[in-house]
Parts: sequence; structure tokens; C-alpha cells
Amino acid sequence: MRDRELYATILGVTAPWTVDRVDLDVAGGAVHVWLARTEGAPAQCPECQSPCTIYDHRDREWRHLDTCQLQTRLHARVPRVDCPTHGAPAASPCRGALPDCALRCSPPSCRC
Ligand SMILES: [Zn+2]
Repeated sequence: MRDRELYATILGVTAPWTVDRVDLDVAGGAVHVWLARTEGAPAQCPECQSPCTIYDHRDREWRHLDTCQLQTRLHARVPRVDCPTHGAPAASPCRGALPDCALRCSPPSCRC
């Protein structure tokens, strides 16, 4: 199993997200996992789950559970949506965008 497949499996990354690359930084004490979203994939409001157009994107970084003695740092260009009910951009751009994000991300790098 390759590193991208390994991290996609253990992080629970599913379509439209994929693991784009994994960088090991032993000196910095971290594994950096870069997530990518399929271009043109449908987006949903994180509040009401309605299909929405994408308003813009934000580069986000947050910490997941450690990989052995190394921090696991996730990086993603997360879409914010234009919801007819909740406005644009809908609140909490990160929440619900990735599996387990709301449960496992760690402030202050993530503002969920
Ligand atoms: Zn909404």
C-alpha cells in the first residue's frame, strides 16, 4: 500500500476528496497530508446539506490524531458555498467538508 492510499484509508477520505500527497518531515516532527477535491464536484451547504454553488475556497490546515510520535497535519483548499438559506459564504467552511473534521480538528489552526 502506498502512502497516499494508506492515509486515505486511515483518515477516511472519500470522494470527492483524495489524498494528493504525503510529506514526511521528521525534523519538524510531522506528517503533512495534502488533500485535493475533484474539480467540479457538487458542493453542499454545511448547515442544511442543500446542493449549492461554490462561493470561493480557503486554504486550511488542521491537526489530526498523531501518526506514532509525529503530528499529522492536514492541508486542503476547502470550498465555501453560496446557500440560498444560509447566505454566502455559508458558515463554518470546514465543518462537514471532510470526514470527522468537526470531531478531530484542533484549534487554533482550524476555526470550526
Ligand atoms: Zn444552507
